[in-house]
Amino acid sequence: RQLLVKSSTLPSESRRGVLLTIHDQTQLKQLEAMRREFVANVSHELKTPLAAVKGYAETLQLGAIDDKEIAPHFVDQILSQADRLERLIADMMHLARAQDRSQPAAPVDVLVFPVIQECCETYQPVAAQKEIELILEPFDEACTILGEREALLTVVNNLVGNALRYTQVGGHVRVSCQPGEEQVSIAVTDDGLGIPHEDQERIFERFYRVEKARDQQYGGTGLGLAIVKNIVQSFGGSMRLQSEPGKGSTFEAVLPCSPATVPLQTAKSV
Ligand code: ADP
Repeated sequence: RQLLVKSSTLPSESRRGVLLTIHDQTQLKQLEAMRREFVANVSHELKTPLAAVKGYAETLQLGAIDDKEIAPHFVDQILSQADRLERLIADMMHLARAQDRSQPAAPVDVLVFPVIQECCETYQPVAAQKEIELILEPFDEACTILGEREALLTVVNNLVGNALRYTQVGGHVRVSCQPGEEQVSIAVTDDGLGIPHEDQERIFERFYRVEKARDQQYGGTGLGLAIVKNIVQSFGGSMRLQSEPGKGSTFEAVLPCSPATVPLQTAKSV
């Protein structure tokens, strides 16, 4: 533990000794170290695409712009690196909002089904492109959680987006929701790459990725799960992960709910 000991002399008329105050600085130091690490990570993550943009633009300026074969490729690279920067900044803004507890919005009843349905509709073209079957398991459409609609959509979008990103062509992604008496469990299951056991504990940390090289190919920012965890915790819920490398993963958000009704019976593909 880090202790800060301060001594102060008492006023002369009552001078019978020294007043010692001891402050436990452990948490403060930990927060400071986390802040420093975050700033270092952000700088690194922003610098990499920025350096690429500059490099390609400078090469174009030095003459490559007249090369009809190379120039379009360099312009494509500039655009894709700019996209990456845009994604990083958007994710950092999301994370900052999720972490901002100074003005937490009062939780309201949010219907889960339309949120999951919207997410599945958004991702259906991505799934179709990879020939992945995106399955929305049936559940009680009256099921509600206590939270905020947009934030819940961010959670589901991130989990489904990841499941599609880290699942091979021809795979399956299932989204399900199990209402309980006090909690609702929203789960996204894939039969994709899975996550090595040694990485599972750290997977929700900001910028933590399994095998950097592998993930560059997938184009993520490393912030999605940190955002998810922050939102879920701000609703008073928690995240669970079950994953087997090479077999797939289930990410589960367990959220406080409002009373639920009877589940439906049949599955449908979206
Ligand atoms: P990213 O933007 O890189 O996807 P996330 O925070 O969303 O960042 O995820 C962190 C890392 O966790 C990813 O880089 C990936 O290695 C791993 N991961 C997340 N979801 C899955 C999944 N469904 N299957 C396999 N690996 C996953």
